[in-house]
Amino acid sequence: MNIDLKDKTLDELEEIVVGLGQKKFLAKYIFQFIHAQNISDIEKITTLSKAFRQELVEQGYYISKIEILEKQVDKDKTAKYLFKLNDGERIESVLLHDNKRRTLCVSTQVGCNMDCAFCATGKLKFTRNLSAGEIADQVNTVEADSGKITNVVYMGMGEPLLNYEAVMKSIEILNHEQGKNIGIRHITVSTCGIIPNIEKLASEKLHPRLAVSLNAPENALREQIMPITKKYPLDMLIKAIKSYYEKTGQRVTFEYVMIKDLNDSYKHAQTLIKLVQNISCNVNLIEYNPNSECEYKGSGSAVIKGFAAVLNAAGIETVIRFRMGREINAACGQLGADWLKKQKKSEK
Ligand code: SF4
Repeated sequence: MNIDLKDKTLDELEEIVVGLGQKKFLAKYIFQFIHAQNISDIEKITTLSKAFRQELVEQGYYISKIEILEKQVDKDKTAKYLFKLNDGERIESVLLHDNKRRTLCVSTQVGCNMDCAFCATGKLKFTRNLSAGEIADQVNTVEADSGKITNVVYMGMGEPLLNYEAVMKSIEILNHEQGKNIGIRHITVSTCGIIPNIEKLASEKLHPRLAVSLNAPENALREQIMPITKKYPLDMLIKAIKSYYEKTGQRVTFEYVMIKDLNDSYKHAQTLIKLVQNISCNVNLIEYNPNSECEYKGSGSAVIKGFAAVLNAAGIETVIRFRMGREINAACGQLGADWLKKQKKSEK
């Protein structure tokens, strides 16, 4: 039996500790050492007796640790981490700086099978879901390497709502006051539109911010660039988002990647207004990051500004997110592009 203590909430640790005949409060020490102090060695939890530490190891408990294989830092300070997981799989996380805010964009799956046409990660074969411990450990490891993380966005490799249980558990762990204590309003989950799990999220106790990767204002175009639309059409998605707002009172962010001559015309802006005008939302226009795996080009900055102006004039709060980490392939849709390039080279 091998059980990763990093993958456990405080409540689950309490069950384990009590089950081993120990006092419940000792679970708090284990949780604090792992998630507040970033310790990954049972031997180093010195507030536990030596005998209890030994017993944990003998019973098959351990603390997993992801390993930094590579770190690249852009001129704009954006840092991309390549991690090796315990079974040798690889994932990436990106650290973004914005004044005092230090946001980590975490991965939730190895690869992704959503196949969005503009995304390099979608070209990587889906291998497996990450555990809650592996998701939380991206935060722990980057924090140990380069200081306090204030915000977490689930927008890295993979579709978070297709790894629902582990994502929700990792949020509980990261939000816990005995661990990282990252405020729930500082945690954002981004989805390409997995409707049943948007509905499930609405009935949770903890509500992170919800972002929906929209990218097209009409169904046919969205089907073309985001195949998930065939399963969950745009009208159903919009209905689910409205119902999410009604149940939670939380407004949703729409992400809209601006792709040249595809979704960036005045007509697209008008259609988008009609689509979202009755929803409590804001729109993030994202500058597209070209990568060697996808054929698209990004809209020019004048086009993006014009698109934003049309939306803002219609009363839809819209901001432009200029790409960060462009020199190190660290921006939205670029994760995994470096390995794909390497893979192709080695196949030649
Ligand atoms: S955009 Fe997100 S959901 Fe779509 S392929 Fe990329 S990682 Fe997967």
